[in-house]
Parts: sequence; C-alpha cells; structure tokens
Amino acid sequence: MDERIFQLDVPGACARIDAECDPPRLEPDGPATMTGNHWYAFMVGIGETVGPIELALCWPPAAHQVGGEYAGNHPFAEVLDRIIFLDHGDGHWQRLEHVERHEDVAHILVPPGPAGRRLAVGMPVTGADLDDLLAIARGGAHVEHIGTAPEGSPIHAISLGDAATARGSLVISAYQHFSEWAGIRMVAAMLRYLLGEDQEAEALRRRWRWIFYPCINADALYLGWQADPQADKGINLNRDWGPFVQPQTRAVRDHMLSTLASGPPLRHLLDLHMGWHSRDTCGAGLTVFEPGAAEAHLIDTQAAFARHLYDRADYTDFIWHHGGVDRPNFAGWATGTFHVPGQTLEVSRHRWRRRADNAWLPPSPELERRLGRAVVECLDTFHQDRKD
Ligand SMILES: [Zn+2]
Repeated sequence: MDERIFQLDVPGACARIDAECDPPRLEPDGPATMTGNHWYAFMVGIGETVGPIELALCWPPAAHQVGGEYAGNHPFAEVLDRIIFLDHGDGHWQRLEHVERHEDVAHILVPPGPAGRRLAVGMPVTGADLDDLLAIARGGAHVEHIGTAPEGSPIHAISLGDAATARGSLVISAYQHFSEWAGIRMVAAMLRYLLGEDQEAEALRRRWRWIFYPCINADALYLGWQADPQADKGINLNRDWGPFVQPQTRAVRDHMLSTLASGPPLRHLLDLHMGWHSRDTCGAGLTVFEPGAAEAHLIDTQAAFARHLYDRADYTDFIWHHGGVDRPNFAGWATGTFHVPGQTLEVSRHRWRRRADNAWLPPSPELERRLGRAVVECLDTFHQDRKD
C-alpha cells in the first residue's frame, strides 16, 4: 500500500502507521499508561483513494490492567467497533459502520473518497475548532484572555447577558481533559444559540449572565497529548481544585472569584467531561454528591436538575453518585466556595440514549450540539422559578 495515503501533518494527528503490513496496521501514538481507560485521540489524515481500503486499527497494550482512580473501568478497546469515525472532508464526523473487532484490533473498511478526509477514534476537536468557537463568541459576547498554560496556550473566558437585568450567573466549562471532545462542540452550540437574534435568545440573555470557560487544558488541545499535564507530569487538572498547582486552574479560579464578586450571583456550574465504564454502560451522567459531601439542599438541587435534564434531552438517565471530598475537582470547589450546585456532566463516547423509546444511538456531532442547546434551555427553565 502507498503509505502516502496516511497523513500525519494534519492538525491534531496522532498515530503510528505500519503500511508494510497486510492490511496496514494503525496504532495510537501515545504512552501505554494512557491507552487503558484514557481516551487520547487517534487521528490520521486520509488521502484520495479510488477503492475501499482495509485497515487494522490496534489499541495497545493487548491486555491492559486498568488502574488509577477508576479501576472498575474496562479497557476501552472493548468498544472499538463503536467509536471509529470518518470526516469526509467537510469537518463532519460520521461513524464507520460494519467494523469488526477481535479483542483489541478493529478491522475497518474505509470507503473510496477524495483527499482531505480524517480517520479517528472518537470525534476529536483541534485548536481550529476552538478558534471557530471563539469567532462565534466575538460576534456578541465578551471574550477575555485570562491566563496562559505552561507551554504558552491561551485560556479564555467568554461572558454574555445583561448583568443589569440578570437574576443570576450560570457557568459552563469544558476540556479539562485531553481528548474529551464533546464539551467544546457543546459550548460552540450554546454560544450559537444564545447569540441568536430570535426572542428566545434575547430572553435568555436578559434573564442570566452566562460565563464560559471553553478549554481549560489549552496546551493539550493546541499541542497534543505531549503537552497534556496528565501525560507529561501525571497531573490531573480536575484534581487541582485545592492545591491549585497549575496556572490553568488558577486562571479560572481567579477569574470566577473576581467576576462573581459583583453583579448577578452564581446559581449553577456545569463542568463538561466524557465518561467511560464498560461496553454495557454508556458512561454518561450528571454527578450528584453523596450525603455529607455538600450541604443537603445543594445535593437535592443537583438531583432535581439531573432529572430535569434527563426528562428533556436525548442523553442518559444515569446519576453518578460522587464523593468528591478526596478528589478536589472543579464542581466540588464551586459548590463549596459559592454554595450553589456544581456538577460534572459526563457525555458518552460510544452510545446515546434516545428518550422517546430508550433506543441507543451512535455518537454524532449533531447529538452533542443538541445536548448543548438542551443544557442551556434546562438551566433556564430549572432556575426560572426557583428561589434558592
Ligand atoms: Zn474528564
């Protein structure tokens, strides 16, 4: 096979390729410690092909013992047949069907097509996606450069809404973890919706001040897993909301404390992530703290908001009961500091629950965008009539 079919010079590319094998063998290019239950991206550009090409995508190591905080997670090679996506060159990821998985190897057939396509595990986002999001935000929101990650990547805050009329502030953050792509797509959809010209959008801007931190782990997004503090130094940014060792978390903390010191008070924080457990569980869910991890009324509000969203969106019905005390994360810090519900929102990487009939749907950018809009609508409807 002509190895020029595979292109590693596309932004975000991350792959090892052995084109001499038959069929050609593809592997993620990353440390073995991150391949078990961590979902760092595999992505490669695909050149023009006139016929279908058969490929073997391998997820090393063969029998990985999953460790760390989530030892109950299965090796994610178990869902390789559900999570291989092709961008046909138009930026829209579509899942490849008829993938056959044998243990940790997926056999795939890439259809013929033009140059400019991308093949990936998951539906990765790159720096270009964040730049698009910031361009949307600049069409009506206030965009601030609030800090810099250790390798020099900028961290941004976006705010919009009328502080004079707003009843409260709502904070949504994303991408503390490399390869958790859904949050950036969801925030872009939220901004598109909120900055719209229709009456609904105008009412949402009048009722609330909306504050977004779209990409906290900016180095990893712009520079790849080599610049991810988790791969590089074993630092999980979402365990740094207590020691505040990293400039990324300090930047967001300081911005929140100064911005929320005046104006509409904080009412709710959602921190967007992507979950995983096993082939039989979608891994999506909202966290609700275990008794004692926060004030009881805040835990009740977390549970009520989860039900509110689950009843209105194609997403999940799973509540993730979370202790949080020994895991200093963003949601826990916000809950303890501002005495409002802070929740981690986990999106599935391999299947989505359709509310109407409980059917399972394959992931798609469209489902992520729709969930983004549903989150905005649900925060609004949930808090409109509440006095807390
Ligand atoms: Zn995460």
